[in-house]
Amino acid sequence: MTTPLDYQEIVEEIFQEIQPSLTKGNVANYIPALAKVDPNQFAMTITLKDGKQFSVGKSQEEFSIQSISKVLAFSLAIDIYSKSLYKRVGVEPSGNAFNSLVQLEYEGGIPRNPFINAGAIVVMDALISHYGGDYSALEKVLTFAREISDNPKIKFDAVVAKSEMEHASRNLSLAHLMKSFGNFDNDVRNVVQTYFKQCAIVMNTENLSRSMLYLAFKGKDPISGKEFLNELQAKRINALMLTCGHYDASGEFAYNVGLPAKSGVGGGIVAIVPNLMSIAVWSPRLNSHGNSLAGTLALQMFTRKSGLSIF
Ligand code: GLN
Repeated sequence: MTTPLDYQEIVEEIFQEIQPSLTKGNVANYIPALAKVDPNQFAMTITLKDGKQFSVGKSQEEFSIQSISKVLAFSLAIDIYSKSLYKRVGVEPSGNAFNSLVQLEYEGGIPRNPFINAGAIVVMDALISHYGGDYSALEKVLTFAREISDNPKIKFDAVVAKSEMEHASRNLSLAHLMKSFGNFDNDVRNVVQTYFKQCAIVMNTENLSRSMLYLAFKGKDPISGKEFLNELQAKRINALMLTCGHYDASGEFAYNVGLPAKSGVGGGIVAIVPNLMSIAVWSPRLNSHGNSLAGTLALQMFTRKSGLSIF
């Protein structure tokens, strides 16, 4: 019999080895409120099926989950997805930056996938139509975030959302471009503003890692027993995380890490080891693709040390 892995020892080793990388890369300065975060921080938390957690670093420090929230919104949208949303957003990797406009133009206003900005904005547009308004749609996303994290205190940071709205030209352009192609139902500013509030949801690595257990266990939270998604839906979201979760660096991430994962410009990444665990890492400095530099390296170290990967 092989000896069981000592996850605490593994994360502590990673914490030691990651130190020289914590000063590399840059924080997301296109959202001024995010640029104020102390850049050299690091945290990592593993959560197992029974809720047992293994953490290192600032695992209680809250950060803006940003694009990781696209997984939550899409989890709500996937029911609508099987009907109307198929025509409005695809499931292919984009091979382009998360906020790129060019591909959207030559592909007729249909975003490649729900994890690039245009795709997530369309998902929010669909949620607003479905739930009957921006307030209800945001409340649904927040309620979902509280349910999956088993933490009723989860909220969004209004300062970050406002800061992003003040520098929203590119996201507004994406939304207007989709509207010009007829792929938009609601008021552009309203949808983009609601999308920013969704992106400004705040968690620490303990919350985030706990939250994503439902994706590691076929849509059902192994602790509460709540079924958030069915098996097929969970499989689809994991597939999208693997192929599109890191934008134009998704291939590289799959190559080096080998797990379905989603990143955000707040420096967070959440990764899934199917049927075993969910792992959250956070370090604010980003690589040139907008993904946490140290976070990506830490996950790479983790899969090498543990031998855990989907491949
Ligand atoms: N709110 C950010 C934006 O729309 C999300 C981007 C990200 O995390 N990659 O630009």
